[in-house]
Amino acid sequence: MQNLTSREKKTQKLKMVSKESINKSLHTIRNKLGDACLIAVTKYSNFEEIKLAYQCGQKDFGENKVQDLISKSEKCNYPDIKWHFIGHLQSNKVKQLLGVPHLVAIHSIDSIKLVKELIKRKKSFKGSSLKLFFQVNTSGEEEKSGFKSREELVEALKLAQQQLLDKTFLFAGLMTIGRIRTEHFEEDAKNCFEKMVDLKNDISTEFGKIKLSMGMSQDYELALKYGSDYIRVGSKIFKG
Ligand SMILES: *Cc1c(COP(=O)(O)O)cnc(C)c1O
Repeated sequence: MQNLTSREKKTQKLKMVSKESINKSLHTIRNKLGDACLIAVTKYSNFEEIKLAYQCGQKDFGENKVQDLISKSEKCNYPDIKWHFIGHLQSNKVKQLLGVPHLVAIHSIDSIKLVKELIKRKKSFKGSSLKLFFQVNTSGEEEKSGFKSREELVEALKLAQQQLLDKTFLFAGLMTIGRIRTEHFEEDAKNCFEKMVDLKNDISTEFGKIKLSMGMSQDYELALKYGSDYIRVGSKIFKG
């Protein structure tokens, strides 16, 4: 094996999940989706497994590291695949990220600094449109990224409105990660999702239609009940 990233090496060691298992998980989730969009998160999977999911009709995939997205998108370069970037984005990776073919969305805009960098690097994006989600820290966990106050979020959105958004760069909505490493994950996830719905209602008069990106393997059903538009599910699909 040549030129594998450390993450790829790690996934190489894991047992491949079968196509049947991927197909079954995808069906289970799709049955609950309604109008929401399922993003299959590939951070634990190698490109063989991504290929299997694609063969099962999955088109939207999410990755949380720019380097891994670059290598996986090169190997899974299907004409109708859609890549979502969902991880913490460092300013010095913005240019590289914007150059990834079939990139359709960034779910993790978490600072004013990042908005400024996107403004600066706009021209690096060659696709037809890019959806932007602003990440909100609803769990209060320090180690998680995301805007911690409404004021800061609104300031970033206003800056984006003035200098970033156009026919290509679209404001899509808000993203959050529910509190997960907790004994009371249901109660805690509910709190996070409720905060998101409130925030959405609160700022939609000023910023227009707002979609929600929330829900992962553990809490996606709950997120759907709260009206999530994009769920991001990894382990449930790729770990069987
Ligand atoms: C890993 C990850 C997911 C998927 O998590 P699972 O629990 O494996 O479904 C969703 N969103 C983000 C931002 C992630 O980093």
